[in-house]
Amino acid sequence: MPHSVTHLDSPPRKIENGADYIESLRGRGLDVWLFGEKVQEPVDHPLIRPSINAIARTYDLAVENPEMASVVSPFTGERVSRFLHVCTSARDLVSQNKMQRRLGQLTGTCFQRCVGMDAFNALYSVTFDIDQAGDTAYHERLRAFLTHMHAGNFVVGGAMTDVKGDRGQPPHAQADPDMFVHVTRRTPEGVYITGAKAHQTGCVNSHWMLVMPTMRLGPDDADYAIVGAVPVDAPGITYIYGRQSCDTRAAEGSGIDAGNAQYAGQEAMVIFEDVFIPNDLIFMDGETDFAASLVQRFTAYHRRSYVCKSGVGDVLIGAAAQVAEYNGADKASHVKDKLVEMTHLNETIYGTGIAASYQGFATDSGAWICDDMLANVCKHHVTKLPYELGRLSQDLAGGLVATMPSEKDLNHPEIGRLLEKYLKGRADFSTEERVRILRLIENMTLGRNAVGYLTESMHGAGSPQAQRIEIGRAMQLEYKKRLARALAGIDPELRDDEDDLVDEMSGYFERVFRLPAAGN
Ligand code: SF4
Ligand code: FE
Repeated sequence: MPHSVTHLDSPPRKIENGADYIESLRGRGLDVWLFGEKVQEPVDHPLIRPSINAIARTYDLAVENPEMASVVSPFTGERVSRFLHVCTSARDLVSQNKMQRRLGQLTGTCFQRCVGMDAFNALYSVTFDIDQAGDTAYHERLRAFLTHMHAGNFVVGGAMTDVKGDRGQPPHAQADPDMFVHVTRRTPEGVYITGAKAHQTGCVNSHWMLVMPTMRLGPDDADYAIVGAVPVDAPGITYIYGRQSCDTRAAEGSGIDAGNAQYAGQEAMVIFEDVFIPNDLIFMDGETDFAASLVQRFTAYHRRSYVCKSGVGDVLIGAAAQVAEYNGADKASHVKDKLVEMTHLNETIYGTGIAASYQGFATDSGAWICDDMLANVCKHHVTKLPYELGRLSQDLAGGLVATMPSEKDLNHPEIGRLLEKYLKGRADFSTEERVRILRLIENMTLGRNAVGYLTESMHGAGSPQAQRIEIGRAMQLEYKKRLARALAGIDPELRDDEDDLVDEMSGYFERVFRLPAAGN
């Protein structure tokens, strides 16, 4: 029986574990397209299933390690996924990062749940601020929505990235108005939206989607300032699945050639054609002034969520070390040095990510948000360092990572014995073990999961330039110039008890010298 997920008024059945989650996806009749064909049941599709398994793993981790991957819901009093939690302390923010690293280790891929988590965390404070500024009731609606999400322990996706059309034009000035998702008509019951969201992580595997604007908006963009929750199976939504490098290996029935046969990520284009959002699921409608803070808060949360890649990096470092051992090269000093370099790079990603969370602070709504600068630094590292980790892993793997014969050849009655003999490394390890690890490195650096580990690292949560803009905005050069002038004897010495100086550098003091609240 499919879960009842599409109406807030019917109490849902709660998803308790991975198997439950997989069953909850069956029979929804989604309009999903892949290779020019409509997918009858995504759960049973060999290319899609590994991405579903990755989310199922998030539920099973919550069963195995409730402290790490679940919380007691403030809405229902029951344990629910940590991916559904609104952070109310720095500890909550850090705990998200630790869960993300762990899941990266366990799946070796993108487990798809952070976008929604970061979206409603951002919305929690933004809806509060909108209501404070006017007479709207978005915040209470969002809390009612979250109560329902907790009751069902659902997967919530975040739909932000519009297709954008002409990048030089704002939404309202596009030749085609649908380049950004927008309201096309209104009734007393709600609004109808049209448009498309590109490369939506985990959308087909979610139960609900939070639709949000993708960038700051001007007064003429009011119809584009729409935030609402939509069930994934709402009428009018089409999903066109993004294919991934080497994805058809999953349909070959080959466990070895897939590299990571069990887990993969998922991105699809989501097209909305006159999709209805009822009033009680609308969390912003026309408040263009607040689009910028929504985007900025979302990206702050999401850019430090990319510590997920340090968990995936742990797997790649392990694979590189393992293949070096199979090759009999693990004692060479340059091999050890490359593994040290990989670890150094990987921990740099993690360090900046959790630092952003440790430096978190409370918003007026009570939700905690991470440090914007450090979150951007984390994500900026992520646009570069996994590529270097990938390069080093291929260096340690040797050329065989890209030239190996297929599993069918390995198992062939005639030529299999030749490969068994000539692909062997150290005598005390089997040829198959060596081939499997090499296929995993191929999967993560050239194949399916390179989508998540490399290209998504580049562009997810904003391409590199987006972080450089934020870093540039917050770098406070005037204050730093003043530090230099003081020590160079140009300006008077700096004193922390001078009122005007404390005012002038208050932003910097507030951010860098903020101490964690007691108990956090
Ligand atoms: Fe989460 Fe990382 Fe996937 Fe983004 S790329 S959804 S942060 S696992
Ligand atoms: Fe992403």
